[in-house]
Amino acid sequence: MEWGSFTECREYLRDYGISKRFGMRKIMNNKVRQEYVCDDDDNCGWFVKCSSMSDNVTFRLKKGEFKHTCQPRGLETALANRKWVSHKILGYVRDNPDCKPKAIRRRVKRKYKVNISYWTAWHARWRCLEMILGSFEDSYAKVPELCEQIKKDNPGSIATFSRDSRTKQFTGLCVAYNASLEGYKDARPMIGLDAFHSNGGVIMSVTSLDGHGGLFPLAVYFTRLECKETWNAFLEIIAPSLRLHDKPLTFISDKQKGIEYGVQRQFGDVNHFHRLCFRHHYKNMKMKHPGPEIEKLAWKAAKSYNELIIIKQ
Ligand SMILES: [Zn+2]
Repeated sequence: MEWGSFTECREYLRDYGISKRFGMRKIMNNKVRQEYVCDDDDNCGWFVKCSSMSDNVTFRLKKGEFKHTCQPRGLETALANRKWVSHKILGYVRDNPDCKPKAIRRRVKRKYKVNISYWTAWHARWRCLEMILGSFEDSYAKVPELCEQIKKDNPGSIATFSRDSRTKQFTGLCVAYNASLEGYKDARPMIGLDAFHSNGGVIMSVTSLDGHGGLFPLAVYFTRLECKETWNAFLEIIAPSLRLHDKPLTFISDKQKGIEYGVQRQFGDVNHFHRLCFRHHYKNMKMKHPGPEIEKLAWKAAKSYNELIIIKQ
């Protein structure tokens, strides 16, 4: 039996151990020789010896005793480590990047008849994401170049990032395309401020409304946390562009403390309004008052600008 490389040989033996449900103990594992025995070698004579051929690449099985005399193991095996799992689920994670460790555990058990821990599944998923998307470190290192390219290809756009002056760690990235900023001058003077919490970070957004009342995206800000400082940093970058509108601005948000602080700091000196987003407000209300009837009434009330209209509706 032969394998194309040292790695192929090692992976084959690992797959073989997992499929036959026994453990292996390494005696020798280098680029020239690989030797393994059954991990219950007091009771079992199973072993394999493989070594490289004269081309120093191809591996060949030299010797072995392939009959186990030990008891088969259960569904747990140390051979199914995070590296092995990540190779087996790479395609699945590529198609389902948001998959949960629970789903990975179920899949591995169904396909390979082996139990893996929650954390093995968790680490395996991250390994896959790194293989697919590259590591976080590599991505952060590309941020300055990304900003340059955005500005070069879309003159007039905002693309800027910040770092902690002491640790040099990434703190935020703001992107607003020139086409959006130009279009904003004719959009309605409504500014929606919101944040989306993703894996380990936050994406903040500034949107406006077009003539048809549809959402008109203006700018995004990628950062670690949603707080006073980050909202203020984002609004400070985008405020000069927002101020170009010739009508007083109305901000709509969930009035999270950071947003109120940022708006006050950046627009406190000009005439503006700050209103509560009813969708957020209703979400809180729904917890105490569930049901479709109250939802219908609540939205009617929200859309009425005086008492008479509520009664008519
Ligand atoms: Zn054995």
